[in-house]
Amino acid sequence: MSELAERFETHDPGEKQVAEKIRCDACPVMCYIADGRTGACDRYGNVGGRIVRMDPLTILDHAAETGGAVVPFVAEGEAWNGDLVNTGRRFVTAIGAGTTYPDYKPAPFIVSQEVEGVDLVTVVTEGIFSYCGVKVKIDTDRHIGDEAATVRSEGEAIGHVTTGEYGSQMLSLGGVHHLTGGSKAEGRATCDALLSLCNRKSVELAIDGGATVIVEAGKAPVIDGKVEHRMRVGCGSATIGMFATQWRGLVDEVVVVDDHITGVVSEHQAGKVLGWEDTGIKIIGRRSTPGRYFKVSEPGLGWGGTSIDDPLSILGDWNAKKGARPGLSLLMVSTTGEQFAYYELDDQLKPVEKPFPDRLQKSVGLIEDNCEPALCTVLFIGGAGGSLRAGVTENPVNLTRSVQGLRTYVTVGGAPVYVWPGGGITLMVDVTRVPEGAFGYVPTPALVAPIEFTMRRDDYVRLGGYENEIRSVEDILAKGGEYLNPRSNTDAPVNNPWPPLAQLRRSTANGAG
Ligand code: SF4
Repeated sequence: MSELAERFETHDPGEKQVAEKIRCDACPVMCYIADGRTGACDRYGNVGGRIVRMDPLTILDHAAETGGAVVPFVAEGEAWNGDLVNTGRRFVTAIGAGTTYPDYKPAPFIVSQEVEGVDLVTVVTEGIFSYCGVKVKIDTDRHIGDEAATVRSEGEAIGHVTTGEYGSQMLSLGGVHHLTGGSKAEGRATCDALLSLCNRKSVELAIDGGATVIVEAGKAPVIDGKVEHRMRVGCGSATIGMFATQWRGLVDEVVVVDDHITGVVSEHQAGKVLGWEDTGIKIIGRRSTPGRYFKVSEPGLGWGGTSIDDPLSILGDWNAKKGARPGLSLLMVSTTGEQFAYYELDDQLKPVEKPFPDRLQKSVGLIEDNCEPALCTVLFIGGAGGSLRAGVTENPVNLTRSVQGLRTYVTVGGAPVYVWPGGGITLMVDVTRVPEGAFGYVPTPALVAPIEFTMRRDDYVRLGGYENEIRSVEDILAKGGEYLNPRSNTDAPVNNPWPPLAQLRRSTANGAG
């Protein structure tokens, strides 16, 4: 049983012990915690009879993040001390902030800061997301499982294979049905896997009828024990288009083997334009358009995401009437350039493998050079629902409208998010842009994610915000908050912009409010 699973089992206190313990009310689990111990999620503890958030509140220092010249920024009332680290440009994240649960109270921190003449407010809370999951993009053309196949972790169903993208396989994991709609074990395994993936740890996933994949955000996928190094340069047809000129004059025929579209240069439009002659080749597969073939084999872990190890198995008989002749040369290559072979037709028009000629090495190397490194990408997706919004404003729908109207800028641990159009606040964020260890969980089960809403102060007041709760960054640094945890400054990740003045200024220009 995993550490997380054990916590699920053990969080419930015996009634007898309750009297000596104090209750944490930061989530519906309501742990009773003994002095010196932490609750079920490890995020809160009993320190000397007070409930304390065990991790520090994280404050990001934004300085020189663009890599360009450092422009000293000094907040009002501060004197620049000459350090290149600009302590005036800070962002109070929700990492370590605590939650609004049970939702009748304002967010743990409502921070004011004037930046370049714009009076901003950032509302900061750790949201409890029951509706959440991750989308995983795995850069590989290998077949890891059929669309809609179940994805498992620790033997439990936690998601499914979804529609593949160009050069990548996609997984949709988590969601409320796996977290809370199935068995207790399914919910635990789902929460455990989501938490690890969001915190950039590796997770082994088994796909029904498919492969076992080790996924870690920002790292190469490991498929059935083999590290995937390269993302394909394109489909077989695109590869023909890109490299046909490189092969002209060096070889009589080129076949780019690909599970999606296998390309044949002599028939392909790119080859025709270059004056490539017919070779009498026959591809076993479904011809789409000239030089482009679907379904040359079943999908698999072989050449170009097919199941084949011998590329000749996709060739039929060569036709002498259409150009086949003894000595005709043939290059077969995969879409990553990792697999390649060279053949010449014998007197019976059968391809015979020959040593790979030097003259073709460069073109195969060019395919490899044009491949990007294969990575796993993990996007957290969650819905900032009804109760979370109540910590921001007394009239929650106003926050939704403000986000949708681009008057409120949403971040997760300071990282920019994509907010889906349409109703609600459904957001996605690349977990590699969020500071490490920012995600937590509660045993309901649900994930805990930091979320910050930044807007102009006058907008905040207008949408029914808790004006009396607004505090300065300096005050928060000096005094902290309800959960008594220390504050910790750290450099902002590169490329996470702060503040979003361009957007917020635009909202003014549009007369928003
Ligand atoms: S699970 Fe964590 S947040 Fe919830 S009550 Fe227990 S200690 Fe508090």
